[in-house]
Amino acid sequence: MRAETDIVPLDKRTPGVQAIEPLIFPVLEAVYTRREKRLRFLAEQRGEAEGGYFEFLSHLVLAQQQILKHMPLSVADGSAIRALPKQGCDQDQLEKLFLAIPYWQQAFLFLVQQVKFVVPEETRIMLESYRQNIPALKKSAVHLLRGNYTQVDAGLAVILWAALSVSWAQAVGQDQKHIQQTQPVGEARLCPCCGAQPVASLVLGGDREGLRYLQCSLCETRWHRVRGICVECGASAHVEHWTFEDLKAPVQVESCGDCKTYLKVFRLDYKPDLDAVADDLDSFALDTAVEQQGFSRAGLNPFSFPG
Ligand SMILES: [Zn+2]
Ligand SMILES: [Zn+2]
Repeated sequence: MRAETDIVPLDKRTPGVQAIEPLIFPVLEAVYTRREKRLRFLAEQRGEAEGGYFEFLSHLVLAQQQILKHMPLSVADGSAIRALPKQGCDQDQLEKLFLAIPYWQQAFLFLVQQVKFVVPEETRIMLESYRQNIPALKKSAVHLLRGNYTQVDAGLAVILWAALSVSWAQAVGQDQKHIQQTQPVGEARLCPCCGAQPVASLVLGGDREGLRYLQCSLCETRWHRVRGICVECGASAHVEHWTFEDLKAPVQVESCGDCKTYLKVFRLDYKPDLDAVADDLDSFALDTAVEQQGFSRAGLNPFSFPG
């Protein structure tokens, strides 16, 4: 593995682009289509046997997409989700607020219904038990949002987060204009729209060539951060990029020698069909290698919770 410094103090400005947008909101239909396709491709490329994890995830993402069509979020539930505190709320307070929002529970039930035939039997039995036990489900949902991942059944966490994510992404989507005008982005480490952690950094191509955005693990929004600085602590003196190939590699790791954390970087300018969530999962060998150098992971992949 190679480490090289690739510090670019200011984002490259493309002629004709007047201002850097602080937020890029997702077109959810397209996000899910692209992710599902990418997961299927990776399952095949990895030679995954039938019933493998990438194939399961492709079913899950397809089910998220079906939610948009068959049970879109109401305006009332969208307002209730956006009104939830982003941080600093304790478990009990958040559980109370959560119970008053039925949508994410219905989304979870729908996802379980769609994927229960592609999961192992013991997982199916566990998921069915949560369908009957909304208080336990609510507790788990709040643990996930508060980052207490070890408190949640591993088989439950991925599907439950998928239900929360499709709910939050629609809630943010309903109010883009207002959020764009009122939400400060600045040097945000967490998503300015929902307070969740990023999955990874993306360096974009096309009209936004060379710009770095972070992709939210919950609401799928992307927010701008200048390249060459550590997302976690803001330092720039010891930022390095690691790859198995060279700096033209589409999947890289950006590490910071000051706070000893790292985050993946996906170079969409080199390979536009990458999907941060799917390709992060496909490149865990890079995580292992950089963790052996003493760095710990910042950010969250909702297909693979820590713990
Ligand atoms: Zn978000
Ligand atoms: Zn740092």
